[in-house]
Amino acid sequence: MGNIIQVQDFSVHDGDGIRTVIFFSGCPLRCRWCANPESWTMEPKLAFFAGKCVGCGLCASVCPRGLLRGLPRDGGREQPGAGTCGGQDPGCTACGLCAERCPQGALRVLGTAMTAEEIVKKVERDSIFFGPSGGGVTFSGGEATVQEGFLRELTEAFCDRGISMWLETCGFFPFENVRDILLRLDHIFFDLKHMDTQIHRRMTGQGNELILENCRRVYETGIPVTLRIPAVPEVNLTAENLRAAASFILEYTPGAELELLPYHAYGEEKYEALRIGGDHFFSIPSGRSMEQAEEFFRGQGIRVVRYR
Ligand code: SF4
Ligand code: SF4
Repeated sequence: MGNIIQVQDFSVHDGDGIRTVIFFSGCPLRCRWCANPESWTMEPKLAFFAGKCVGCGLCASVCPRGLLRGLPRDGGREQPGAGTCGGQDPGCTACGLCAERCPQGALRVLGTAMTAEEIVKKVERDSIFFGPSGGGVTFSGGEATVQEGFLRELTEAFCDRGISMWLETCGFFPFENVRDILLRLDHIFFDLKHMDTQIHRRMTGQGNELILENCRRVYETGIPVTLRIPAVPEVNLTAENLRAAASFILEYTPGAELELLPYHAYGEEKYEALRIGGDHFFSIPSGRSMEQAEEFFRGQGIRVVRYR
């Protein structure tokens, strides 16, 4: 079994053509701007969207663990009391009974376990759209390489079926352990989040040494690479970081294309629903600042692309 957040069909933003995106659970980084914090850990978890709750109490009536008794009775203006809702409650098994019972969609289990066979069957159904559009599957997350064995099983199955495979990776993985998997891929989106290792560590929980080393090694395999910079104004959309990124690309990955992804706040609701504390919100970059950054890289002779 693999731990999966979602298998999403008909994506046109995660590579060429129409693609089915497999979002893996688990990630070695904790980027402060992450839009998918539900993928940080492996196991399924219960999320509570307080704004939707009308306080009917139906969820508490079905929970076999006797949880959720403190959910708000005031139309959802307050969060449930400490220890009352599954996401943070060690007693919660994320069985999902409460979510099924909730008439408002205020409770949702994020993540599920799936077999490789289940995923392959789903992808095979979608594959009638792949050929004409040049599409296929994209492994995303979270970080797909964290579930190395499961990813290997899927890449073998899709390879046998001639299905195109792209990977979106944060680059933090033991290269030799996954080399055989990488070599089956048709394309890799590789994140360069910050060129300064201290800032990288502060913003993601890990330094960038392994990531930069892997970036060079992935490029040397000859697999087409799109480098991705998640553009967060307060973090990495600075002249100094852009200059350092351009130098790195020109020296070590000169044929790679580059995509800048503007930060967005779509994950905001999920941080609250999963009750993850800390400061996770940043400014959204203006269209002009994105264009200026793209112009800078083009001026350096780097090919800038947009898949989104
Ligand atoms: S997911 Fe299951 S165990 Fe957790 S609160 Fe809901 S009903 Fe209870
Ligand atoms: S069933 Fe849904 S709407 Fe009713 S109290 Fe529970 S979470 Fe709120």
